[in-house]
Amino acid sequence: MLIAGNWKMYKGPAETAEFCLGLREQELEGVDVVVCPAFVSLAVAVQLLAGTEIAVAAQNVHWEQEGAYTGEVSAEMLQELGVYGAIVGHSERRQHFGETDETVARRTEAALEAGLFVIACVGETGEEREREETEEVLRRQVSVLEGDDNLVLAYEPVWAIGTGKTATPDMAQAAHAFIKTLIDVPVLYGGSVKPDSASELLSQPDVAGALVGGASLELESFSAICRAAIRS
Ligand code: PEP
Repeated sequence: MLIAGNWKMYKGPAETAEFCLGLREQELEGVDVVVCPAFVSLAVAVQLLAGTEIAVAAQNVHWEQEGAYTGEVSAEMLQELGVYGAIVGHSERRQHFGETDETVARRTEAALEAGLFVIACVGETGEEREREETEEVLRRQVSVLEGDDNLVLAYEPVWAIGTGKTATPDMAQAAHAFIKTLIDVPVLYGGSVKPDSASELLSQPDVAGALVGGASLELESFSAICRAAIRS
């Protein structure tokens, strides 16, 4: 079971350091834990979590090794820092920064090639779900990705991200089971996972863990979700 915390554009280096020092003190044996700070906070997270089983991943990664790509960061640069992996294709990047299935595929492929672990995000919008297009959207988003030992997918229905509207365990299970017919990799669930909803979601047969946004920002709620994963 894998629990990843996506800190989005929260926590600079000082807050990251405080969180990581607290996280080190938690009993988290029996669950794989990853934290995903902003680029500027990766170095301190890597430094303070060194010697623990907790991994550090970035929230994005570019497909070129280097070049004239202002504002981007390559897999090689992340590796030089000791970063373990990267999230790719988060819906906030698709929504606000022009990320497409094609760029998601390029980022994923390059990151895997460089040896990074990748969490690739897929998921339908509320309108797409209402139009009963969920499977079509997932099929399109997954079709550009290829199975890899270092790849996991995160099913994140866009209507559930940061909204407090969690998919029901049955809805999550159905989407995960469908994704598993398309690609043979573990699938995390993401979308307003909280300590209260974690156990039931994580006990679904095709849910291999969670990608947690809001509830990963507080040590207490994040470790409660990690403990729910240990029990699942
Ligand atoms: C996310 O950012 O990936 C996410 C799932 O956010 P939240 O848990 O806040 O919905």
